[in-house]
Amino acid sequence: NYISVSDLANMINLKIEKLTRDLTKMGFANVTHNYILSKEYVELILMNYNYQLGDHALAVTPENVYDELRSPVNPKNLARRPPIVTIMGHVDHGKTTILDYLRKTSIVSQEHGGITQHIGAFQVETPVSKRKITFLDTPGHAAFLKMRERGANVTDIVVLVVSMDDSLMPQTLEALKHARKAGSQMIVAITKIDRISNVKEREKAIEKVSIDLMNNEVPIERMGGDVQVVTISARTGENMNLLEESIVALSDIMDLKAERGSNAVAEGFVIESEVKKSVGNVSTVLITKGLLRKGSILICGNTYCKVRSMSSEQRVSLAEAGPSTPVEITGWKNLPAAGDEVIQVKSEAIAKKYVAKKMAVIQTAKESKNVERINEQRASEALLKAKKDNLKGEEVEELEEKQLNSGPEKINFIVKADVSGSVEAIVESISSLGNEEVQCNIISASAGMPNESDMKLARITGSKILCFNLGSLPNDVINNKERIEVEQFNVIYKLIEGVTETLTNKLKPIY
Ligand code: GDP
Repeated sequence: NYISVSDLANMINLKIEKLTRDLTKMGFANVTHNYILSKEYVELILMNYNYQLGDHALAVTPENVYDELRSPVNPKNLARRPPIVTIMGHVDHGKTTILDYLRKTSIVSQEHGGITQHIGAFQVETPVSKRKITFLDTPGHAAFLKMRERGANVTDIVVLVVSMDDSLMPQTLEALKHARKAGSQMIVAITKIDRISNVKEREKAIEKVSIDLMNNEVPIERMGGDVQVVTISARTGENMNLLEESIVALSDIMDLKAERGSNAVAEGFVIESEVKKSVGNVSTVLITKGLLRKGSILICGNTYCKVRSMSSEQRVSLAEAGPSTPVEITGWKNLPAAGDEVIQVKSEAIAKKYVAKKMAVIQTAKESKNVERINEQRASEALLKAKKDNLKGEEVEELEEKQLNSGPEKINFIVKADVSGSVEAIVESISSLGNEEVQCNIISASAGMPNESDMKLARITGSKILCFNLGSLPNDVINNKERIEVEQFNVIYKLIEGVTETLTNKLKPIY
């Protein structure tokens, strides 16, 4: 809980200058109006003014510093927006093939004929109803989870893909769990129906999947529920337009709306970001509100952007973009992080001011955490000493051992991946792995091949290096002389499994 000097002055009806002067007298150095105070200090200060602190008085946190930049919703500006869809399901059940088919057949502005580039999301126009759908194209469930954990519930609809010949598999169930937790609406696509040409056999297989779905509490339509099931083949294209129309129908029921136009402050989320040769910091932003133009100023995390260029997945340059549109943007001062929220501001000066404010809040938060930690440590040392004084010999040893053994063993990892989006997704999905005995501890995480300093860090900290989507690694990395363990992965869930295994191997046998 933190508050700036100017907000505090407002709160207690004091002139900022007076408060600044008083604070300086109390011993605060270099006090300005956006100097950030922690709760402990504020309580002391308020005592000086005989002011009681209410529960909601201190609300500035690193998470909400930018909230005051948003504009309130004006119902007059609300208009229908395309649904944002994530395709989830078990590996090899056909997610990529579906996305590729959609891209090929119904991409918006196909006439421009540009070479498509992966930007993490794309928009299609449905062949029949001529409506737009936005598909997220981020790898696996981790990205979806990560966005959600940050409160970014960007996905409106989850298409749960189930291969007709496999039915529900572990990752299907996992996807189901995530979709439910996120409160996303769902459509089931039973795919690969071209694999069985015999109509009766095909019906039988579909029936099996339907029963499996019901057994996992998915209330599908043919069993009286409201979850649509579409049977498709992404290979032959059979019923693919039905899938698209089902999404449109569901989005109409959901009545998805957003403020469009430049009256609303534009908002969105970073889907992916990376440094590209010759253009620099590039990110894909999915706009959720307002209208983005070239030249717009955006603030995000601890960086900001004056939009220099804006383009679609087909590299088509766009002058403006509204809700549910994914656009690739250049002009960032620093690379923003995938999953972070983007908010439009009026000028670069405002952007700079708010970034500085956020950094100050984070710094204060860190300092007060450090103080907390040091206090805790001192308290536990004092406790130990007090106990020691009253105990002798064996008992002390036992106590010390307990103290040493308290807390989980930390297993160190260094994460290296192809793009920052993957880095973020991996960190987010493995950092909480472990239990009260062993825990995953990420020493560092960054995009790019493992370099000399990564190797050095791994050696010093005894870390295992996890590589994701990096292609073939240099020989001196794989066969390094220091015997640093380097593991390579191309699928996030395999990586998660790998880390889990490493942790499990460290567990002491129970017997
Ligand atoms: P993902 O891991 O879920 O993205 O699965 P992919 O899209 O990579 O598909 C896995 C395999 O199934 C590939 O060999 C695809 O060619 C194949 N496949 C995907 N969809 C279909 C389909 O509708 N019919 C058939 N026969 N094969 C399919």
